[in-house]
Parts: sequence; structure tokens; C-alpha cells
Amino acid sequence: MDDTSFLRIQGLRKSYEDVDALRGVDLSLARGDFLCLFGPNGAGKTTLIKIVADLLKPTSGTVEISGGQNLDGGIRSRIGLISHQTLLYDELTAMENLQFYSSIYKIPDPEDKIDSLLHTVGLHNRRDERVSTFSAGMQQRLSIARALINDPVLLLLDEPYSGLDQFAATVLSNHLKELHARHRTIIMVTHNLTRGLETANRIGILSEGRLVYLKDRAEIDLRSFEDHYFTHMEAV
Ligand code: ATP
Repeated sequence: MDDTSFLRIQGLRKSYEDVDALRGVDLSLARGDFLCLFGPNGAGKTTLIKIVADLLKPTSGTVEISGGQNLDGGIRSRIGLISHQTLLYDELTAMENLQFYSSIYKIPDPEDKIDSLLHTVGLHNRRDERVSTFSAGMQQRLSIARALINDPVLLLLDEPYSGLDQFAATVLSNHLKELHARHRTIIMVTHNLTRGLETANRIGILSEGRLVYLKDRAEIDLRSFEDHYFTHMEAV
């Protein structure tokens, strides 16, 4: 792996019985890259995120993160994941959930960090309420705080805007821009073109298990990108 590649995916394939979800994905990201991945339903985006997070084994191919194939304890503890599951404990309060994850990541004196994240996601005044009483959007907000508690060097976001109101979505976009400015490496899957194009520096389209488009945001002509995007969306 060369110096510039923080994450390298080679020849990644995943088959679920008779479905070929990924059909040979190659991708290199430098440290600090923010890739937004678009694509139609069933394109393989969640499958790709789960494999990079080491939650799912590929059928073949490799994922190398910061030089090491497969995740060792060090890098795994520095990954943040927002997925379709919130990974929150319903019977714990918002604060207790963040305290629990702080202890898992062995974060020393996490109280200020927890306080600040609860303010960031707008849940500070609900911090002592159980997650089971939260709306879907509030759970998503807390899930974002959970994913950020360990100050991840690699952030994997699978439809993070799902369920968020406009205020929370803007807070998330601003926070992602800040993390990007701090050279965190981010892969975000979203169906929200506006949010994706305004935050990421690299833009990809996954279609039928293949990366059919990958460009620097700065090179993209918006009109031709929309043409590509809608062509692939029609292919569902
Ligand atoms: P969406 O935008 O709808 O979330 P996606 O791009 O994230 O879609 P995946 O969830 O990765 O797509 O699914 C890719 C393909 O793999 C689909 O055809 C899906 O039906 C199939 N698939 C995903 N998970 C499984 C599974 N556990 N068992 C069988 N097939 C699966």
C-alpha cells in the first residue's frame, strides 16, 4: 500500500446464495478523503459498508485499512459506524448509552465529551430519558453521537440522514465538514444528492455491485453527474 492510501479495497465480491451483491469492487481512499456513495436500492452499498466495518466477510477480495489486512484491535476501535441499526440500548438513557460506549472504548474521563456530543445532536435536555421513549429521529441523533464518541479516524455512514429533521440534518452536515477538515476518512452512503455533494470530496456510484463512477467532487460537472445518476437509478 502506498503512503497515500489509507483504505484499499481490491477485487471485493460478495454473494448471498444466488444474489451477487458485490461483483468486484476496487477502491482506494487517502487519509482524509470523504467519499459519498450513491446508487439505487439493492446496488450493494450496505454490503460494502458492512464488509469495511468487518461485520460481514466478503466472498473474495480484500480490505486493507492503514496498512493492515483485516481490522486489528487498534484500528477497529477507531472506526465509527452509523448503520440501519442504531446499536443503542433501549432500556438505558441517552447518557447511559454514551457512558456505556465510552467504557467499551476505554475513553478516559468521558463526561465532557458526552456532554458536548449531547449538545451537538440536540439531546442534552433529554439526556436522562430512556431510548425506548425516543422518536426514530431522536434515536438516529443519539446513534450519531454514539458513532462519534471514540473520535473515529474512519467513519462509515449508511444513510445517516434517515429520519433526521432539517435542523438535525444541517447539524450533521456541518459536523461532517468539520471532521473532514480534521482529516478523518469518511465513507457515506446516502440517497440525498444535495447533502452528499455538499460535504464529500469524492463521489461514487455503485450499481449492480460495481463501482461505475468515481470522481473528485471538484472535477464534477453537476449536470453531467445528474445524468449519470439518473441513468443508473433507472437501471433498478
Ligand atoms: P438500499 O439502497 O436499498 O439500502 P443497498 O445498495 O444498500 O440498497 P444491499 O443492502 O447491499 O443494497 O443489498 C445488495 C443485494 O444483496 C440486494 O439484492 C439484496 O437483496 C441482497 N442482500 C443483502 N443482504 C442479504 C442477505 N442477508 N441475504 C440475501 N440477500 C441479501
